[in-house]
Amino acid sequence: MAKIAINIATGSLQQAEMIVGIDLGTTNSLVAIIHPETKQPVALREFNTSSLVPSIVHFDEFGNPTVGEQARAFLELDPQNTIFSAKRLMGKSYKDIKENAGFFAYKVIDDDTESLVKVQVGNQFFSPIELSSFILKELKQRAEHILKTPVTKAVITVPAYFNDAQRQATRDAGKLAGLDVMRIVNEPTAASLAYGLGMNQEEEATIAVYDLGGGTFDISILHISNGIFEVLSTNGDTYLGGDDLDRTIMQHWMNEVGITIDELHQHKSLAQGLRLKAEEAKKHLSTHERFSTDWNGEVLSITKTVFEELIQPLIEKTIDCCKRALTDAKLSTDAISTIVMVGGSTRVPAVKNAVSAFFGKPVNDRVNPDEVVALGAAIQADILAGNNKDFLLLDITPLSLGIETMGGLMDVLIPRNSKIPTSVGRQYTTHKDGQGSMRISVFQGERDLVKDNRKLAEFNLTGIPGMPAGLPKVEVQFLIDADGILVVKAKELRSGTEQSIEVKPQFGLTDEEVENMLMDSITHAKDDMQIRALVEARTEAEQILDVTEKFIGKNQSLLTQQEILDTAAAMQALQMALTMDDKNLIQTKIEELNEVSRPFAERAMDAAVSGALKGKTI
Ligand code: AMP
Repeated sequence: MAKIAINIATGSLQQAEMIVGIDLGTTNSLVAIIHPETKQPVALREFNTSSLVPSIVHFDEFGNPTVGEQARAFLELDPQNTIFSAKRLMGKSYKDIKENAGFFAYKVIDDDTESLVKVQVGNQFFSPIELSSFILKELKQRAEHILKTPVTKAVITVPAYFNDAQRQATRDAGKLAGLDVMRIVNEPTAASLAYGLGMNQEEEATIAVYDLGGGTFDISILHISNGIFEVLSTNGDTYLGGDDLDRTIMQHWMNEVGITIDELHQHKSLAQGLRLKAEEAKKHLSTHERFSTDWNGEVLSITKTVFEELIQPLIEKTIDCCKRALTDAKLSTDAISTIVMVGGSTRVPAVKNAVSAFFGKPVNDRVNPDEVVALGAAIQADILAGNNKDFLLLDITPLSLGIETMGGLMDVLIPRNSKIPTSVGRQYTTHKDGQGSMRISVFQGERDLVKDNRKLAEFNLTGIPGMPAGLPKVEVQFLIDADGILVVKAKELRSGTEQSIEVKPQFGLTDEEVENMLMDSITHAKDDMQIRALVEARTEAEQILDVTEKFIGKNQSLLTQQEILDTAAAMQALQMALTMDDKNLIQTKIEELNEVSRPFAERAMDAAVSGALKGKTI
């Protein structure tokens, strides 16, 4: 059925479905669309401004967020309340980012567990999903302002190496921002689409996408055949980018002028000024032979030749990553037919030359490297909207499929719009000691609580051998075949006990019902998210209380009287917090309990280790 919509603001007729393409970047984000008249992808920008929106969120004293250029101003002025690089935290636990914790100038909660990271701003706790949703909301509003029409559907790009959890987190961020995320597309795939690669069904090619942004470097090797992109390998350095190029110039000038790092550290504004000059120099040297400026009465200058010498080691590092990516894909450079350049830093001629020399052919750099990913996302969006009839859409799942986890939460295994056939597996564990069975309830829908979704099937996995909570490993697998039949299997990996169930094709919903379920999920996204956060905080609190209690029972001799009293008080405070529906309060009390128990937990660990050593005989 064709639909025609009238734009209320302008009175003009418009396409029923405007699906935008969004590049949600570590440093910058932007939105692109296919221009309704020219049919070409364009990045959206307000008159006379950049299309790039810095991926930075600043919270004022009342906890209200601002995003983008305005927020950037607070990076130096108010670092605790200015969140940059939230993308680096997506789907990560504190353990994952521990090594680089120093990178973040704001407070990332260190609860030393496997649970997902949170960022503390004042007395509020934000998940990376919420932080990203602020950026997406800003992009949505900008797009609506420019297009003078509501924007509710989007294709969002993610790095090729993003895992299932990180992709799901990105979808959730979209939902929370009021966007129906039609598809998550790999950034290198989007960049290739922007160059028209893969648009011809007969074409078969192996391509390299070299992406050097402000703070990260990625190389992806893709194979395209029949219009399908397959990622053969990825490599990179998540802490290497344009900022490092700036730093080489800063260091060079500091040596020349005779300032030390310590002096710069003491004068934040001096450092910031010098950093900006260095970035200006770098950009200038992309098109000029020398740069010179005045800085507090000193003349700072640098030539392109010197700059290229300084950055040589960094360029070498990226080439080493390219070599590793090729090795992993079991390919040599001759197998690569096309190289696509992405990211602002690929404007540096020495970078382009090195990449071209390594692969032995010229690189594709015609499209603006800052916009190329978003432009490709817009092309993908247009295909999904059905405007590009040359493209066959593969069968997809209309709604997400998942199982119920602790607290009645929906854990999505196969997100909506996944191509079928497909299969996904994930591991779960028990939450009670000696738990002998596990109920697997299968749901369909987009809401965070299973009670708001549709139950498709349910079965019990029995015969789990008695073990302490958290030890059994139950692998749940969802398989959808080409006919849309879903098979759910559960297997306890230690004992091998196994059970499965089959669910009918199409899962019995009309288009209208699917549509309603989607709309509901967007209308309720905010409430759902809050409930999910609360349930997760509660579950975490209950686990910590449980573990602490057991620990104290066993290790009483290692604790001082004071420690026992303090722990009991902290546990009681957490118990009290659990009686209220306030996730920030629960989180604060978890933090406090962790603070109290950390010293003796570490001591007990040492005792256990030295005990084990003493036990050894030769
Ligand atoms: P991205 O994360 O892709 O937006 O990349 C931003 C990075 O590209 C920053 O480090 C910029 O300094 C850098 N950049 C932007 N324009 C240029 C240019 N003309 N020459 C060199 N680097 C640039």
